[in-house]
Amino acid sequence: QAKQAGRAMSRVFQPAMRDVSKDRLGLEAQLHHVLEREELVVHYQPVVSLATRQVVGLEALVRWQHPQRGLLLPEAFIPLAEEHHLVGAIDRWVLQEVGRQVARWQRQRRGTQKLWMNVNVSAQDLTQVAAVTAHLRALAFPAPWQVMVELTERVLMHRTDADPSALEGLRQAQVQLVVDDFGMGFSSLSRLHRLPVSVLKVDRSFVAALEEDIELVRAMVSMGRALGMVMVAEGIETEAQYHRLVEIGVEAGQGWLFAPALPADQVNAYLPHSRKRRRSIDRP
Ligand code: C2E
Ligand code: MG
Ligand code: MG
Ligand code: MG
Repeated sequence: QAKQAGRAMSRVFQPAMRDVSKDRLGLEAQLHHVLEREELVVHYQPVVSLATRQVVGLEALVRWQHPQRGLLLPEAFIPLAEEHHLVGAIDRWVLQEVGRQVARWQRQRRGTQKLWMNVNVSAQDLTQVAAVTAHLRALAFPAPWQVMVELTERVLMHRTDADPSALEGLRQAQVQLVVDDFGMGFSSLSRLHRLPVSVLKVDRSFVAALEEDIELVRAMVSMGRALGMVMVAEGIETEAQYHRLVEIGVEAGQGWLFAPALPADQVNAYLPHSRKRRRSIDRP
């Protein structure tokens, strides 16, 4: 009877499970060709000064324009790319594409004053961070844009004891580090203080919980301040969240309240044009 039940179960569950693994296999195989087939695109999410709501920078976010499945978000393929050690190549391509796009904007006389350009890097090991640094140097990323490399707190904390020299490379390349998803890992304050980190990006889960718990974020911000960090909040969706973040003194933020991640041509409207004089925040 158990056997029968088992067979019934397998009839119910197997087709779906088979689909999932086939799905994965299919994606895996295609992921190996994603660069040569030029299927990746970069979208950009504006980062605004909370005081003025003016754009102070952009975050580059990769997407996979899949020929059958449509636009795939990073969560659908970055973990897979990490597993298969393809993420380093993807990250380098993103940097290159971002460099090309910034040059395009500069030719259009957009972004001719200081703006941040944040890129995400999955450093599985810090030699990858070193490779990114070398890559950035070779790109000669055009000033006055300031590149910032976002690393998650988990990566930053776990990998830095092993090889501080890789971070020294970033320091020398004059790249600023952003601790992404701040609050989700366990930052050692003393270590944060020693790293070339200038921005802490408060994870959006804390922003989402602001109405219930403003004190937690307040504490995170005062800690960041004490370390001389610029505080940025991610995932701002409502005016209520926005006002609380202003009240706490967070400098900058991003979220659907202002703008989602957009294709480059749609970001134009957000970028200050050189003929108009605009203020931007100076730090870092
Ligand atoms: P992240 O760096 O923390 O990026 C923020 C994510 O929040 C983005 O998702 C963004 O689209 C989303 N978001 C922005 N505003 C809001 C909002 O108001 N509400 C909500 N609920 N979400 C918002 P996305 O683009 O799907 O990226 C997910 C993650 O994938 C990123 O998290 C980043 O860790 C990673 N990623 C993105 N691009 C790259 C890349 O080029 N290389 C690597 N290695 N990882 C990347
Ligand atoms: Mg990020
Ligand atoms: Mg983040
Ligand atoms: Mg996040």
